[in-house]
Amino acid sequence: MSQNFEQLCNLHVCDLVAYEPGKPIEDTARELGLDPDTIVKLASNENNLGPSAKAVETIQSQLADMHLYPDGGGYALRTALSEKLDVDFDQIILGNGSNEIIELLSHVFLNPQVNLVASEHAFVVYRLMGNLFGANYKKVANPDFKHDLPAMLAAIDENTRLVFIANPNNPTGTDVTQAEIDAFMEALPEHVIAIFDEAYYEFLDEPVDVLKYVRQGRKVCVLRTFSKIYGLAALRIGYGVASKEVASILQKARQPFNTNSLAQAAAIAALEDEEHVTATRAMNKAGLAYYEQVFKEMNLEYVPSVANFILVKAGQGEAGQELFEAMLKQGVIIRSMKSYALPEWVRISIGTQAQNERCVEVLKNILQ
Ligand SMILES: *Cc1c(COP(=O)(O)O)cnc(C)c1O
Repeated sequence: MSQNFEQLCNLHVCDLVAYEPGKPIEDTARELGLDPDTIVKLASNENNLGPSAKAVETIQSQLADMHLYPDGGGYALRTALSEKLDVDFDQIILGNGSNEIIELLSHVFLNPQVNLVASEHAFVVYRLMGNLFGANYKKVANPDFKHDLPAMLAAIDENTRLVFIANPNNPTGTDVTQAEIDAFMEALPEHVIAIFDEAYYEFLDEPVDVLKYVRQGRKVCVLRTFSKIYGLAALRIGYGVASKEVASILQKARQPFNTNSLAQAAAIAALEDEEHVTATRAMNKAGLAYYEQVFKEMNLEYVPSVANFILVKAGQGEAGQELFEAMLKQGVIIRSMKSYALPEWVRISIGTQAQNERCVEVLKNILQ
């Protein structure tokens, strides 16, 4: 009767490490006996201004239709996106968060015979997905926390299928320039699909254009999300923009109703709410400047960021995890960078001015 459980499952899955998200407010409140309303969460790069009021209103008006399946083809949202981005309807695929598109790409292109290329401090989901599909993960050094695109090109071999470039990158907050991208695309071999993960694109002052490569029919997939600037992380809605051949094969790999009606409707409303986006960008800009000023005063090393979070060095050894734990006890949730092989560092998401000040107060209490 006794069966070793490990003999029942796929071995490469047994060996995986589950993704560790930012610590939820409710968990923290329960474990530490704190009032959830007093907890400040700056751990998952959410929009601390909240969702667009227009998106909330739209959802409320649609609640009574919850018994109906969503439009699996996402017609209205894909139409709105194709108009906004000036690409064809067929070039857009919706995902249950853009994370799902990363999984779909992996379904389609990864297996134990091939590899993917990404930076040393790239978004951890690329590695998790590579492992899930048994593909080899080729990690490329990123001096100064910036993607080294020429080194990434050099790492590509005949078995490479996917190369991931988050721009701006999470958790480093750095970006690559249009000139760097253009040189990269010029040299990219035909058998490799380039994935530009633009989860934080809307925060950029000088946005780059990679959609031109989609329009040219190159093998690229651009990932965007409603989880960050649009403030809809709970709804799980993101999208990929890809050349037709890539987009159509991704469509075959998804669940029939992978994105829900409320998320689709809220996304359309959020997309049109330019005021909310502008207010968020302003809050973020002020918050980034505030943290940089504080870190300078405190003599803390940090990585200048163009996104809605900032990487700061807490000290030596395991200082990042220690700072995370100490701040957690005082009701401020930040992110330890241990799982990113940056044990000395923490990542702080930009909040409202009041949240940022509370975070800094607790930070100073602990470090000084
Ligand atoms: C947050 C994030 C995503 C998107 O997450 P979803 O909520 O699944 O849309 C994708 N890539 C990076 C680099 C991110 O930081």
